[in-house]
Amino acid sequence: MKLRKVSAAAAAVLALSLAATACGSDDDSNDKGGSGSGGGKKIAIGIKIDQPGLGQKLPSGKYAGFDVDVATYVAKALGYEPGQIQWKEAKSADRETMLARGDVQFIAASYSITDEREQKVDFAGPYLLAHQDILVRADESGIKDPKDLNSKKLCSVTGSTSAQNIHDKLAPKAQLLEYGGYSECLTGLENKAVDALTTDDSILAGYAAQKDFQGKFKLAGFKMTNENYGIGVKKGSDLKAKINDALKKMVDDGSWDKAVKDNFGPANYKNEKAPKIGDVVK
Ligand code: GLU
Repeated sequence: MKLRKVSAAAAAVLALSLAATACGSDDDSNDKGGSGSGGGKKIAIGIKIDQPGLGQKLPSGKYAGFDVDVATYVAKALGYEPGQIQWKEAKSADRETMLARGDVQFIAASYSITDEREQKVDFAGPYLLAHQDILVRADESGIKDPKDLNSKKLCSVTGSTSAQNIHDKLAPKAQLLEYGGYSECLTGLENKAVDALTTDDSILAGYAAQKDFQGKFKLAGFKMTNENYGIGVKKGSDLKAKINDALKKMVDDGSWDKAVKDNFGPANYKNEKAPKIGDVVK
């Protein structure tokens, strides 16, 4: 099913992801073209492109967000300057395959550590603890408890833990539309094709704070799950230990706090404190 009647605001978010798709999956717009300290070597990193505050491709072609800052810090620790990073969009459903194929060296893309995914990939981290929540229209009054979702129409993204949790445990009777990206769900929420968009609060806060959406949407504040964000690497990769060292350093030297303030501050997202490496909260 396609959702028509795209509003200007949702279209703006969508346009960014479409523009990036049109460029193909290889995206080196942050590449300054120079031969950097590593003699022109590059590192390909998987990132989200339509999640303001986490991973977003800006109209300038630059990437911004907490995941971008974490990935940039880690890349630096691995010996790559920002100009040597080749960002590649990692949609929720594509992440394990991208790592297995070697399309990217690592993925920092609101990627929750789960037992199921750990069968296929390894995770460094966690580096952030988020929680599944819902975003509804500002005038919504019929959803007071997660159980109320059972009679509602929800939207989430294929291959995300959010969609799976709704099916498996949170609201198995809900009507769930699944799309390839969150922008499409936002359009659906705006034009009332769905009652709620469900995913991590860290992502939803970024949407709610978009200038074009202000006053239109609100978060319910349901902490329905624990989403431990990890950095995905190919199974068996020795990068995992190196990335863990970098993440620990990022917290210890204050860069993690700065990245939180810079990226979550504008959305007023109240994040959990920095997780300890290896400490996955079930
Ligand atoms: N953190 C959840 C996941 O890894 C939802 C966000 C996403 O789709 O990236 O599936």
